[in-house]
Amino acid sequence: MATKYIFFTGGVVSSVGKGVTAAAIGRLLKERGFSVAVQKLDPYINVDPGTMSPYQHGEVYVLDDGAETDLDLGHYERFIDIRLNRVCNITTGQVYAEVISKERRGDYLGGTIQVIPHITNEIKRRIAMVSRTTGAEIVLVEVGGTVGDIESLPFLEAIRQLRSDLGRENTFYVHLTWLPMIGATEELKTKPTQHSVRELRSIGISPDMIVARSDHPVDDGICEKIALFCDVEARAVVPMVTTPVLYQVPLLLEEAGVADLILHRLGFEPRQMPDWSAWKRLVERTKQEKPKLTISLVGKYVELHDAYMSVREALRHAALEVGVELDIRWLHSVELEKGKGWDDIRESAGVIVPGGFGSRGIEGKIQAIRYARNEKVPYLGLCLGMQLMVVEFGRWVLESDDCNSTEFDRTTRYPVIDLMPEQVDITDMGGTMRLGLYPCMLQEGSIARKAYGVEKVDERHRHRFEFNNAYRQRFSERGMRFSGLSPDGRLVEIAEIADHPFMVGTQFHPEFLSRPNRAHPLFVGFVRAAAQKAGVI
Ligand code: GLN
Repeated sequence: MATKYIFFTGGVVSSVGKGVTAAAIGRLLKERGFSVAVQKLDPYINVDPGTMSPYQHGEVYVLDDGAETDLDLGHYERFIDIRLNRVCNITTGQVYAEVISKERRGDYLGGTIQVIPHITNEIKRRIAMVSRTTGAEIVLVEVGGTVGDIESLPFLEAIRQLRSDLGRENTFYVHLTWLPMIGATEELKTKPTQHSVRELRSIGISPDMIVARSDHPVDDGICEKIALFCDVEARAVVPMVTTPVLYQVPLLLEEAGVADLILHRLGFEPRQMPDWSAWKRLVERTKQEKPKLTISLVGKYVELHDAYMSVREALRHAALEVGVELDIRWLHSVELEKGKGWDDIRESAGVIVPGGFGSRGIEGKIQAIRYARNEKVPYLGLCLGMQLMVVEFGRWVLESDDCNSTEFDRTTRYPVIDLMPEQVDITDMGGTMRLGLYPCMLQEGSIARKAYGVEKVDERHRHRFEFNNAYRQRFSERGMRFSGLSPDGRLVEIAEIADHPFMVGTQFHPEFLSRPNRAHPLFVGFVRAAAQKAGVI
């Protein structure tokens, strides 16, 4: 059977939850027994978000195969509980790079290279690769940006062409808009939706479904009005009212009958009834009153919570499992250096230092780690957070502040974290780190081994620096346990402090594999230790 496609476009404004909607609809289809994959088309010219500042772009989400992708891929993987691959995030940069390199090779035999058909054909080729590499029967494709942006036009043109290439029965277009409320009259307005649909039509795409996001309840009259003016069936206008619980979105869309309508239009016979019992329990648990637990997250991009999207989600998953309500204090490490924010740290039952790059704010993080070690406050360090835990420990053991990662001080006397040998000659910054899934063997009797409950795990990485083995012996003797190692024993993947209730640093990023119904064991271990420390469980 031919692969079926559902395309998602956005109108009116950005950030109305296109990624979450696509992810939730993917879940609806999976619940009915269909295999799905999701692809994001990003209109920017960077090859991938790996080189972008988190301030610009939010978190960089890493896949099994080491692709550095948009954070929406995290929504897709978490909501649908699937593992995606490199072709699931394409950018204008990748598309142009490919076309230009083909042109240089002479592949186009003297032709003039143009946006249509060369760029659009390359986009379509990459869309087709998703089902081939994942085996998905239904591919959901999200076009980044908002209709009307110059940058996304080639993507929209490509998905427009796909309707005639593949047939009406194999394509479905969902357009996501925003209904603003005018304060004075307390009225929801449909005009921007009408305009954005008109804009979409002018490029040749007629939506089959309109999802109208709103902060206020949407009555039938509004939906009927949108249906009439935008020429879609009334039942294909789906109000999506903002919910404080993100994981409620699939249930809202289920109630609205979204999946049945899409499957019917794509010519599928019903396969199995969805079973939402576990998902409903998850949402129920989220809403239940639970004891509060304060955790400090010490980072450098804390003003923008999206920069730590997967860490926050993994913490929430773990909190649900442990049965506590998290109060996350987002602390800027530069402020800690100035002596600010320490009350929050002292009020916290756990400290977490996530990944990061560059020297700004490093000392503030080290001070927070020192506090956690001395006061026996549960600590979880992710990548950079592990490296700085090693630096802090090194300064204490070696009795010298001239101990650092060579990322921050190339001439430090004690380079306890150093560039990996395979990284030494690398000059290009994009896509050249140690990226993606690598195995890790867990040492018997360690905190990590106890948390995971298995001997071998595979986790996702994104780093250039590593623990310097010259210090392994000495640090072990003083109470640092190297509880996770690469199978050849060469790379330290997890370090922990033996004489501490929970002080664990991972060279990898466990947050990328946490799922709402299957919290990551290390996050659960951390939150549980914090809850015990606070005496709330
Ligand atoms: N900057 C560190 C490195 O490259 C840590 C990276 C990270 O936290 N993802 O090794």
